[in-house]
Amino acid sequence: MNSFLKRTWAEIDLNAIAHNYRAIRQSVPLHSKMMCVIKADAYGHGAQWIAKEYERLGADWFAVSNFAEALQLRNAGVTTPILILGYTPVEMAKELSEYHISQAVFSEDYAKHLSYHAQKSGVTVRIHIKLDTGMTRIGLMCQDDIQCAQAVDAAERIAKMDSFVPEGIFTHFAVADEAEDGEAYTLTQFHCFNQAVEELERRGLHIPLRHCSNSGACLDYPQMSLDMVRCGIILYGLMPSSKIRNQIDLHPAMQLKSIVSLLKTVESGAAVSYGRTYHTKDAAQIATVPIGYADGYSRNLSDRAQMLVHGRRAPIVGRICMDQLMLDVSSIKGVREGDIVTVFGTDHGSTISVEELSSLCGTINYETICLIGKRVPRIYYRDGKMVGELDYICP
Ligand SMILES: *Cc1c(COP(=O)(O)O)cnc(C)c1O
Repeated sequence: MNSFLKRTWAEIDLNAIAHNYRAIRQSVPLHSKMMCVIKADAYGHGAQWIAKEYERLGADWFAVSNFAEALQLRNAGVTTPILILGYTPVEMAKELSEYHISQAVFSEDYAKHLSYHAQKSGVTVRIHIKLDTGMTRIGLMCQDDIQCAQAVDAAERIAKMDSFVPEGIFTHFAVADEAEDGEAYTLTQFHCFNQAVEELERRGLHIPLRHCSNSGACLDYPQMSLDMVRCGIILYGLMPSSKIRNQIDLHPAMQLKSIVSLLKTVESGAAVSYGRTYHTKDAAQIATVPIGYADGYSRNLSDRAQMLVHGRRAPIVGRICMDQLMLDVSSIKGVREGDIVTVFGTDHGSTISVEELSSLCGTINYETICLIGKRVPRIYYRDGKMVGELDYICP
């Protein structure tokens, strides 16, 4: 234990995870099931641990992006239903069935091939039919009346294909997190979806799970929750955008920490890091920190971002290297080698948010947390005590 403290690590607060789950559960209508989106290693938080936690809290469903992510959960002992939101090779019909994994079906051709392979293997596959009401990503095109009519016909044929159990039907919003700017479009998407579902019902085809809400819609359009919501980013305590109108109390679950590996005092005019882009103006105290772009800390943050040392902000000076970077800690008293550096999170009441770093490098909080490298161990805390460690390199 504590070997991780020697370099760079991510602290994940399971109390925050539980708090967020309960806060969301309370803001979503009671009759709507909760599908926890834990694709991309639970947005970088460590899928096995996070899945176990949500399972304990009563999550109804999990969503992942691909078969490997689903299998990882099953291998970890997760028994909650799992939906693969994206593409799975049709040859995996047998495995989908064996592991009780439901598959999104997003075109009639894909459906035919998947059905063929399911039949050939003598298995049935649970499917969720995906309608494309405005993302133009995957799904049966359903963005106007003519397309909608065609999508309904196709969905009916798909639902009746051999070896399928039609379990769900869903769509995905493009601008549910953009407040007024996205309202008309979101309402249109929801309308198209409902029209298609209602027409299928009229034809006697009842698909039990209708779902369309991502985090943005969970917060700002609770009336669209239907049978299930698919929330991702808010589970981890982050907002899908800064424009959300209906704020709820969320706690960011992850903090990224490192240490001062070396301190040196340099003269004015010293060139720091590759390319000599930064020269000290006066004599300075430079702290080297063992985190770099290979840990998922973007090189675009060179000479821009800050980190917390003793609760005070220290600027990154010079280029961020693959495994290390330098801070100017001249203005902070009493810094010593081995001191903790907060890359994002809170230290002595000061905070550097994921959003601050994301906007400095021109991206969104989603990408920043997903990109945290696999050589950064995830350390889990409950009630302030360390309860586990996920080490990807030396499991
Ligand atoms: C990723 C994803 C979600 C979750 O999105 P958040 O904005 O994180 O809530 C929901 N549905 C689909 C289809 C997705 O791909």
